[in-house]
Amino acid sequence: MTTAPPSTSLSRKGGSWLLDETPASDVFTPEKLSEEHRLMARTTTEFVDNEVLPSLERLESKDWDLARALIRRGGELGLLSIAVPEEYGGLDLDKASSLAVVERIGLSASFATTFGGQANLTILPLVLFGTPEQKQKYLPRLMTGELIGAYALSESGSGSDALAAKTRATKLPDGSWSLSGEKMWISNGGFADLFIIFAKVDGEHFTAFIVERAFPGISSGKEEHKMGLHGSSTTPILLQEVRVPAGNVLGEIGKGHKVALNTLNYGRFSLGAMCSGGCRAAIGAAAKYAAQRRQFGQPIASFGAIKHKLGEMTARTYALESLVYRTAGLIDARLGPAPHDGAAIAKAFEEYAVEASIAKVAGSEILDYVLDENVQIHGGNGFVKDYPAERYYRDARVNRIFEGTNEINRLLIPGMLIRRALKGELPLIPAAKRLQDEVLSPSVATGGFGDQGILDEEMRVVAAFKKVALMVLGTAMQTYGEKLTDEQEVVSYAADILIDIYASESAVLRAREVSSSREPTADLHVQAARVFVNDAAQRVESAAKSALAAMADGDTLRTLLAALRRVLKASPVNTVAMRRALADAVVARGAYIVGAP
Ligand SMILES: Cc1cc2nc3c(=O)[nH]c(=O)nc-3n(C[C@H](O)[C@H](O)[C@H](O)COP(=O)(O)OP(=O)(O)OC[C@H]3O[C@@H](n4cnc5c(N)ncnc54)[C@H](O)[C@@H]3O)c2cc1C
Repeated sequence: MTTAPPSTSLSRKGGSWLLDETPASDVFTPEKLSEEHRLMARTTTEFVDNEVLPSLERLESKDWDLARALIRRGGELGLLSIAVPEEYGGLDLDKASSLAVVERIGLSASFATTFGGQANLTILPLVLFGTPEQKQKYLPRLMTGELIGAYALSESGSGSDALAAKTRATKLPDGSWSLSGEKMWISNGGFADLFIIFAKVDGEHFTAFIVERAFPGISSGKEEHKMGLHGSSTTPILLQEVRVPAGNVLGEIGKGHKVALNTLNYGRFSLGAMCSGGCRAAIGAAAKYAAQRRQFGQPIASFGAIKHKLGEMTARTYALESLVYRTAGLIDARLGPAPHDGAAIAKAFEEYAVEASIAKVAGSEILDYVLDENVQIHGGNGFVKDYPAERYYRDARVNRIFEGTNEINRLLIPGMLIRRALKGELPLIPAAKRLQDEVLSPSVATGGFGDQGILDEEMRVVAAFKKVALMVLGTAMQTYGEKLTDEQEVVSYAADILIDIYASESAVLRAREVSSSREPTADLHVQAARVFVNDAAQRVESAAKSALAAMADGDTLRTLLAALRRVLKASPVNTVAMRRALADAVVARGAYIVGAP
């Protein structure tokens, strides 16, 4: 089975959305999924609804035979073969197909972690960096679920600072390797058959190895007692002089960081997609509960305070979903039609590493917001185990910690853009200089925001956000120069602004595109996008003020703040009415505004 990449997405450089205008028709959206994508999505939904969700209790009691059986079932359905080249028996489908699958797998967070450990953290690094022999040996059995995989990067002393690992690899006289050390918090650790393990050759050269459980000297520690994800195995992995054949080095010696980072680049995007699916499901659950729960003689869904929550949950989810699909379209457009070679895929993931980090941070934080409000809408029932709201809430918390913490990802977002600018790959520096000349001159009108076409106002507001980002980044580069990375608070404010730009623009472009095709739900798309942009304007203003005040004072700060006011002249809109309309729509459907209920 093959699917063509989304024909409407044009290949664009990662991060170029900050400087360029993107026509709505260029952006991939859920509405543009092909019939093949939809078939994949339906297959996954049926699998999750009929086989995974009913198994959750047993998975939570650590029934790892069942976890294995479910992975095998996912293999039978082709869900593990999506990224694997056809020559190894895979389907080599586009990222939109992966997205359609992981969004739905995400509904069962524990199983999604097991699935992610297999598909994203074991199969994917083998596809990207494996030799033909390694692929031939391991991929077919990983795709069927005969082998379960795990990815062992973290150690007790090195999580965020993963390259500081202490696990050692020593070359033996016959060319094989001896690995010793201890890995921590490894998903699928209790029952995996195959591990991608990172160790330092001679304590120095960070390298990835393929290690079979059958190799003597490897063992799993005790299951961790976790806040959530009780249905997913997390253990330490102990390595005592484990003998690994010479042919089991993955990638090059000393280049383990490439394996680790490229795997994470995709994992972050994929996690964002899982979070988007989780948000949609929680909105459905909250809407149904709000419709049937009566207080003061009426359904709680009729109260403005509850409508506010449902409307806001919907608007944020809409932006998240839009940015995740847009990113899938960008990666697919860069990759072109199959067959895909591992190095080309790694390059495409690297190109959109900024967008992947944005998907991870926005996804995990929007999901936490949505699940918190889901508990609140359920009241006391949200806090007890009879309803799934409390489990969703606990299960989601780790999303802000793994695949690179959100703090680390926030530092990476502006950091990667600035690095590209300094290498001359992104004309950010001249754009920031031009803007500085423009906005610091009080005579320059930056445009009012009158009401014209659909979402024209919001397009102008997003353009203003971009100017704000350039102002903050430009001032930061001038103020701190090479020491900018030491100023984490300012870098994090800049990241928040960049996240809001990409999310707002993705939502607005999608809603414009839907409006032009006269979809019956077009009004809901427009309202979701308008609510999101309106709220984003307040966040962007606040982040920019805090960042500028950290870098300047006195007259300089006053001039910068006056320029900020001129640039960011957004009139508030009646988001109360729009949130009510969104809430009424989700309550009427018993589901998120678009897609299968
Ligand atoms: C359920 C679960 C499953 C996991 N699965 C896997 C797996 O399959 N494979 C694997 O290899 N790992 C896995 N992990 C480990 C996970 O990736 C790490 O926990 C994560 O990378 C954070 O590392 P840490 O826990 O050491 O926190 P630390 O790095 O100690 O961070 C603690 C705090 O300090 C902040 N911080 C750290 N460095 C900086 C800095 N430079 N600047 C600013 N702030 C900083 C962090 O953001 C965080 O808030 C899993 C963890 C959990 C909980």
